[in-house]
Amino acid sequence: MTERYDAIILGMGPGGEVAASRLISGGKRVAVVERELIGGECAYWACIPSKTLLRPPEARSAARRAFGTGTPTLTLEEVFDYRDFMIRNLDDSGQVEGYEKKGATVVKGEGRIAGPGRVEANGETLEAEHIIVATGSAANVPPVEGIEDVTVWTNREATTTREVPSRVVIIGGGPVGLETSQTLSRFGSRVTLVQHADRLINREDGQVGELVRAAFEEEGIEVRTGRSAKKARMDGGTAVVELDDGTELETDVVMVGTGRKPNAEGLGLESVGVEPGGKGLPIDDHCRLAEGVWAIGDVTGVMPFTHVAMYQGRVVADNILGKERRADYRGIPRVVFTDPEIAAAGLMEGQARERGVEAATATVELPKVLARPWTYEENPRGTLGLVADRQRGVLVGAWAVAPQAGEWIHQASQAIRAEIPITTLLDGVAQFPTYSEAYLKALEKLDL
Ligand SMILES: Cc1cc2nc3c(=O)[nH]c(=O)nc-3n(C[C@H](O)[C@H](O)[C@H](O)COP(=O)(O)OP(=O)(O)OC[C@H]3O[C@@H](n4cnc5c(N)ncnc54)[C@H](O)[C@@H]3O)c2cc1C
Repeated sequence: MTERYDAIILGMGPGGEVAASRLISGGKRVAVVERELIGGECAYWACIPSKTLLRPPEARSAARRAFGTGTPTLTLEEVFDYRDFMIRNLDDSGQVEGYEKKGATVVKGEGRIAGPGRVEANGETLEAEHIIVATGSAANVPPVEGIEDVTVWTNREATTTREVPSRVVIIGGGPVGLETSQTLSRFGSRVTLVQHADRLINREDGQVGELVRAAFEEEGIEVRTGRSAKKARMDGGTAVVELDDGTELETDVVMVGTGRKPNAEGLGLESVGVEPGGKGLPIDDHCRLAEGVWAIGDVTGVMPFTHVAMYQGRVVADNILGKERRADYRGIPRVVFTDPEIAAAGLMEGQARERGVEAATATVELPKVLARPWTYEENPRGTLGLVADRQRGVLVGAWAVAPQAGEWIHQASQAIRAEIPITTLLDGVAQFPTYSEAYLKALEKLDL
């Protein structure tokens, strides 16, 4: 017999989980379909383990950078044990039970849309008024000749390893490449980071890449920008990666952090009239794909972050619950949890100008204008940049490379989203001595 629901959710990463929970709380009959583990990439192989692994060496580095504190011992076995606890030892039975207790039907298996309102999974057919596609993304492996002959890690191996390779070549200078470089380097690997673009984290302002590069090189990470890996081969027991300038790098492991591809294939989307594009599913501003079909999270290709997947999950659930809601992506924060942290929100100067914004910018070096960097560490660091729209008198973007920047970027995010007038922001009062005081200093430097 075919079961009938209000909504079926295909894929239970953070996007699917938020949509499911909100719909269940709203009294809807929900079925969820998950082919691996409830919690998705984020909970087991991405956000959670990567941030867990970054924290102990960050605490050690913070102790070294403070004054009068020794160097704490890093015990990798204990770090990996705690990581395993955080990723629930790759076991989601508690999650399955939790959703069943809340009244949802949980189907473990690959799901596929089989026409309007119909999903097939695990040999069953489920029917519903709404289908939410939340199938996430997978690691891209770049086209490097011979790469299949060497040991390749994606985020999955890097986040679940209990071994620290002596040498690693990391391809990709985006968030995943940067975080993994610092983790493995601080665990004792010799890391070479190869980035195709001429600067690291090239989605952000050019100054960001330079600041990160300097911080990485200072701690012994070798950074090669403007270079691509062309070939890979085994030479005896050693892997060799050849770059486009002919340089050969010997390594034990090649880690790829070269972006993600949406899990949009094989979902039966044609049966509801949707063409899965390579860059993500074409949703409208309500996150709707077709009548009764919605999509959220990485599979949409909008912004590959957990908080965006969860936001879209809230948007879709509210629309299904009859509270019409549109997604607004302005000013959403994006943080790389390296030390120092890299945080940004909204448009960088170049992007603002491309959109016809008459941009004014200001940059402040925090140790020159604030007390907090000096009370925090002996060799104080930190830079904040702002991008304002001169005509409208509001902030449109901000970036920072500084301790805890991922916490205080939210003030810029709110200001951008709420279009708070800069005249109002200039009347702001931040606690002394905090990093947040940097905003007033930078705002005062804006030539509006
Ligand atoms: C190393 C790394 C670190 C990251 N760190 C952060 C961070 O700190 N903060 C942040 O905001 N973002 C981070 N991200 C990005 C974040 O992981 C993703 O944006 C987020 O997981 C997207 O959530 P999602 O719900 O769209 O999909 P996913 O988490 O990818 O989950 C999708 C789920 O759908 C399932 N699925 C796929 N196809 C089917 C099918 N046909 N049938 C049934 N189930 C299916 C999958 O098994 C999976 O469980 C990181 C990414 C990586 C790789």
